[in-house]
Amino acid sequence: DKKDIDPADLDSYSKKHYPLCMRHIHETLRTAHHLKHFCRLQYGLFLKGIGLTLEDALQFWREEFTKLMDHDKFEKQYAYNVKHSYGKIGSMINYSPFNCIKIITDSVGPGEHHGCPFRNWDATLVKQKMLDHGVSTEGIDTILDLVKNRHFQIACTKYFEYTHSLQAPSTTINHPNQYFEESVNIIG
Ligand code: SF4
Repeated sequence: DKKDIDPADLDSYSKKHYPLCMRHIHETLRTAHHLKHFCRLQYGLFLKGIGLTLEDALQFWREEFTKLMDHDKFEKQYAYNVKHSYGKIGSMINYSPFNCIKIITDSVGPGEHHGCPFRNWDATLVKQKMLDHGVSTEGIDTILDLVKNRHFQIACTKYFEYTHSLQAPSTTINHPNQYFEESVNIIG
């Protein structure tokens, strides 16, 4: 069974166990206190997949969003979507977290932060993030080369290795939740 996820642990999880796509969204949320729709959807379903309960998800989003808006507005405009993505309201569909193919092929407009960084960012930004996250120069070269050849999931797999003491995941990364689970298994 998955262990219960405490929303208070998400900052440390994002540094240790998140793939770049989710870490970027998490950090954007912490600084902007807001995310656009597709970003909330991509991240919200990922959080559901790692085991955040609906109650904790509501608390997590409410805490961050109400830094900029009042509680009433949050409840009216955003709480519904959180409940909806847990299948608790509306069509009652229990939506699955998105896999890499879906995220990589999503279109991302200006000012949006969802999608796959290896696919959507320019090389300078990818390089900067790799440096910030402690990837070696050799690792950065390998990753940028894969990105240039549009091997985004293999680039993500290499990123995993270079941030996990060169331990590889069991297969090429194909899902952000796979990334998270394999990371937790390797480094706890
Ligand atoms: Fe996220 Fe998948 Fe892209 Fe990795 S390859 S950053 S898990 S979408």
